[in-house]
Amino acid sequence: MYNLECRLLESFDVGLNEAGISGQRLAGRLSAISEIGLTEQHGSCRIGFSQEEKQAKEVVASWMKAVGLKVTTDAAGNVFGRLEGIDPTLPAVLCGSHIDTVPNGGHFDGVLGILLALEVAEAWKETGYVPRRSFEVVIFSDEEGTRFNSGLTGSSALAGTIKVSDLHALIDHDNRTFKEVVEQVGLSAERFTEAKRDLTQVAAFIEVHIEQGDTLEHEDLPIGIVSGIAGLGGLEMTLKGHAGHAGSTRMNNRRDALVAASKIVLAIEELPRRISQTAVATVGQLNVYPNGANVIPGEVKLSVDIRDIDKISLDRLIAQIVETAGNIAAECNIEFSCREVYSTPPIQVSETLRDLQMDIVSKLGMRPMLIPSGAGHDAMILGQFLPMAMFFVRSSMGISHNPREWTSLDDCVIAAKALNRFLQKLCTSSLLEKKEG
Ligand SMILES: [Zn+2]
Repeated sequence: MYNLECRLLESFDVGLNEAGISGQRLAGRLSAISEIGLTEQHGSCRIGFSQEEKQAKEVVASWMKAVGLKVTTDAAGNVFGRLEGIDPTLPAVLCGSHIDTVPNGGHFDGVLGILLALEVAEAWKETGYVPRRSFEVVIFSDEEGTRFNSGLTGSSALAGTIKVSDLHALIDHDNRTFKEVVEQVGLSAERFTEAKRDLTQVAAFIEVHIEQGDTLEHEDLPIGIVSGIAGLGGLEMTLKGHAGHAGSTRMNNRRDALVAASKIVLAIEELPRRISQTAVATVGQLNVYPNGANVIPGEVKLSVDIRDIDKISLDRLIAQIVETAGNIAAECNIEFSCREVYSTPPIQVSETLRDLQMDIVSKLGMRPMLIPSGAGHDAMILGQFLPMAMFFVRSSMGISHNPREWTSLDDCVIAAKALNRFLQKLCTSSLLEKKEG
């Protein structure tokens, strides 16, 4: 037992509870989910399409049912808890996030967004509020993409941006195919794309997520409003030289793929700041073959993750990285190839929704602060097709994807209050109607 609940309640201001929103219930639920896939370092390990992710979905689904939501699961394993509106013919408002984590991740990334959406449904039941539009709490599958080096899998399936051929090409670190992996959690690779939903029946997607940065803490604000989500490009570079004996191959006779890769890593670290202030690029994986202590590396595969909130500078940075890497490889007499592993354009947030968010945050007595999101979220997939909005909740020291990830219960409850007001407006006012008809 780790007892996240006790830690959350230690400093909780009970006076923040209101109109059916309960910090105590939220703490109990965050804690219950934290026990599923709890690591020795008190982190969280619920990899996409694992038994742990499945179990966490089942627990949340049981809470959805208890509050009267109609629970369904689609072909991608996404879970929906639907509250029928007064006018069920109107497109629904969806709100949620993911429940998978990176290996040894934290207890707030993703799961908080789901539990806050559910907390709003709890508040509506307790206060007798029935929305005009239907409302759905959503759990998306495999957002982090740890297993297949991909990500945003469930939301992409719902949006219909996944191709069956891409899924069949996926192999995890244990050499298991996508088909084998999803079958173990009761899904079918062949039927996976049936998760595509008729998006004319969805009015908007709203996501609350921890900031995973330190801007809000720096500004002394519990919540912020996301101004846009950075687009990202993922590359896999392959460098081929010659493996050889580390003792008998003279230095100027070598074609060492790792030496070229090292120069490329250093060059990639330099490039983003020359393109834009918001651009970032990371080499996160390096696989060396044959990976022997006394063998000159014959081949290296490396991954590059590139992000920016501006499409033009993102595209320019990707092009420069590929060109620079190719030039370095040529200078080192190393064969070079590069393929795009993933690509998502930057997403702007709906202005109408953003103005409403700012108004709500002001009325709650806080300064509305706009923050661009550098991390990818399920909202960036749905935002390509639907009005989308996000709230960020303060992260302690900006730490995320780490057992030390922390957000105070006070901040979680303040986020629940803002979300409750926001969703009530969206589900009842005519704000989303311009997009329909
Ligand atoms: Zn997340």
